[in-house]
Amino acid sequence: MIAITEWPILSLVEMIESIPQSTAMKVTEHFKKAKDKTLVSFEVLPPLKGGSMQAIFKTLDALMEFKPPFIDVTYHREEFIYNKRASGYYEKTSIRKRPGTVGICAAIMHRYGVDAVPHLICGGFSVEETENALIDLNFLGINNVLALRGDARQFEDKFTPEEDGHKYALDMVRQIAGMNEGRYLDANIINGEKTDFCIGVAGYPEKHFEAPNPVSDLQFTKAKVDAGAGYIVTQMFFDNRKYFEYVDACRKIGINVPIVPGLKPLTRRYQLNSIPRKFFVNLPEALVSEIQKAKTDEAAQQIGIEWCIQQSLELKAADVPCLHYYTMGNTDTSRAIAEAVV
Ligand code: FAD
Repeated sequence: MIAITEWPILSLVEMIESIPQSTAMKVTEHFKKAKDKTLVSFEVLPPLKGGSMQAIFKTLDALMEFKPPFIDVTYHREEFIYNKRASGYYEKTSIRKRPGTVGICAAIMHRYGVDAVPHLICGGFSVEETENALIDLNFLGINNVLALRGDARQFEDKFTPEEDGHKYALDMVRQIAGMNEGRYLDANIINGEKTDFCIGVAGYPEKHFEAPNPVSDLQFTKAKVDAGAGYIVTQMFFDNRKYFEYVDACRKIGINVPIVPGLKPLTRRYQLNSIPRKFFVNLPEALVSEIQKAKTDEAAQQIGIEWCIQQSLELKAADVPCLHYYTMGNTDTSRAIAEAVV
């Protein structure tokens, strides 16, 4: 592997041409190829605007020895900021704080020869912009995508799609499945190129917070699978029983695709409150009481890592297809867990 400082500057074309042929496998093909072996994969966030791609490489350089077959890259919708003008009025400006998901995916495939899975969200996109983003991905040879709705903007109490954008992830899955059949928005395009996207979607062992009940939430998840999603990645959970019950409930209603557990270690004491508030998940009492006893964040992090290792080992023993870790840029914790699990 070359050192970061030796990283060559390549044109996009050179970059695409140099993506090894062995990559560009679908996530579902990786699961099939691994047979009963549990894979390990990671999710990374694009750097904040003004930040450097080297931050992603630094994180991934440290994680590649665990041989993840694919890396997810999140997408972040625009946010509004308010700038005070000389007149005293505030001007509302829209900014994307973490742009670059598509470019980062191409760079990851080029540098490491592993597949990259860009997250695409409905929020902030018209259906045409979604189509154009998918065309870019197709041209780059990126044929995996995690189709998501996205959350409400900060300061908005509910998700509002663009006027000509998708309301639910299901609508985006249908659009991608349509492109896989050669259907584009412009009805005049006859015999359009058939894309070949492998589509992943989100699932919620503890129910999506807006769903009126778990049954309703599961039915909508099933609709995403029936529309063409090939696998599900779950929201984080801290009690494996929630995952096992969720998989059972999915199987009972005919969701038969792989269900990948998403995992994140608790690393700070304040997360006892922030994680349930932000992600709408419960923290088991045994974990909470251990963290409450921790005198420092470092001690809390050790407890969180150990908890996540035990979760991972139990899931691995149950032959889950893949353990998917939300790194949140925290390389050390991800490494410590992967070292104990792989
Ligand atoms: P949907 O599947 O559209 O579901 C949203 C809600 O609507 C649910 O309550 C569902 O039950 C309900 N629903 C679905 N379809 C219908 C329908 N037809 N009629 C009525 N109700 C319906 N967010 C980001 O912004 N960027 C990311 O990169 C990102 N990555 C994520 C990765 C994973 C693995 C997960 C689990 C979440 C991620 N999120 C990300 C967060 C996600 O965008 C939010 O959880 C969002 O609130 C819901 O997205 P979804 O795709 O599950 O939505």
